[in-house]
Amino acid sequence: MSIELIKHLQSVLEDIRQQGLFKPERPLESPQGPSVHAQNWDEDLINLCANNYLGLANHPDMLAAAHEGLDNHGFGMASVRFICGTQDIHKALERKVADFVGMDDAILFSSCFDANAGIFEVLLGENDAVISDSLNHASIIDGIRLCKAQRLRYANNDMADLEAKLIAAAGARFRLVVTDGVFSMDGTFANLPAICDLAEAHDALVMVDDSHAIGFIGERGAGTPEMHGVEGRVHITSGTFGKALGGASGGYITGPQPVVDILRQRARPYLFSNSLAPSIVNATLAALDLLEASAELRRQLADNTRYFRERIGAAGFDVIAGTHPIVPIMTGDAVKAQQLAAELMQHGVYVTAFSFPVVPQGMARVRTQMSAAHDREQLERAIDAFIAVGKQLQLI
Ligand SMILES: *Cc1c(COP(=O)(O)O)cnc(C)c1O
Repeated sequence: MSIELIKHLQSVLEDIRQQGLFKPERPLESPQGPSVHAQNWDEDLINLCANNYLGLANHPDMLAAAHEGLDNHGFGMASVRFICGTQDIHKALERKVADFVGMDDAILFSSCFDANAGIFEVLLGENDAVISDSLNHASIIDGIRLCKAQRLRYANNDMADLEAKLIAAAGARFRLVVTDGVFSMDGTFANLPAICDLAEAHDALVMVDDSHAIGFIGERGAGTPEMHGVEGRVHITSGTFGKALGGASGGYITGPQPVVDILRQRARPYLFSNSLAPSIVNATLAALDLLEASAELRRQLADNTRYFRERIGAAGFDVIAGTHPIVPIMTGDAVKAQQLAAELMQHGVYVTAFSFPVVPQGMARVRTQMSAAHDREQLERAIDAFIAVGKQLQLI
């Protein structure tokens, strides 16, 4: 009986709360930025948990371009792309994304989640195999579930295991290896050079989801293939506009012309979901212009990351090493991660605790993220707060 289902859900929610795994939402009353104003909270908070890597979420150039898009192209499209939902700026953005990443063409989606959800069933059938890193984003996992190909999963960044899975898939018609360019909970990079070597040896295509890299990783910000020097050896990429490239929404796939062309014909989230709003499209074009014109925001982000990693490591925190602006501070215990986040809030620093099922059991953490928009004084205040609370909770 449905009333029993409601009761069941109540008890599941109670369990989630008791295990310290409940994820509350905190309304902000300010735009997204290096500091934010939270509802019912007096002091502004230094924000270390947005994907606002380049500080474009409330950048004046982005606001101006969004206004321009609104004024010239209207508020909404009220259509999917193939009916009457394609404007000149949608085509211009697809061209620009493709050129920025260095691929034949690109196709826009409402989100990167939709891009990943839509691609696999279009490209692969039951005679094919998809080989996926165990830490890949949920949208890749769901996209793979929707396709009929044989599914193989290799241990995170474990090249021996990837090779074993490629050998196991030798009988398949086509093989596709898919990985996040950056593993979002750890801030670590996929070993793309080795992945490309193995894929070439075993006649597989490579797809990289660069959501946590596009715009700021690599010399031009073109992402992890650029950073690793494997452009041209990665066949397909996906990515989001919802992080470094302005943070509103939207996603894309780039790849060889036939891949993009077939996605326009067959990808269900593309065919059956509304076009991206003109203001977002126009502002995302402006973001890419800005990043082509100057490396300043990338340089500022890299500086901030280096400084924060150095200071927080020297303070004795258990940090996952690396160079990415995702800086995970491990607590192990989920309740401790929540305490750390709550206490930091009292000290004027906004961070979020991550626990199961977002990360594995026993691997709870506070994931901090740097932004080009943070100034040195904000980072120093945040580090001081971490040290004070870390001592109090006996983390250092
Ligand atoms: C954030 C993220 C997505 C989802 O992007 P949206 O555009 O917000 O749907 C997909 N893949 C990875 C690796 C991500 O980090």
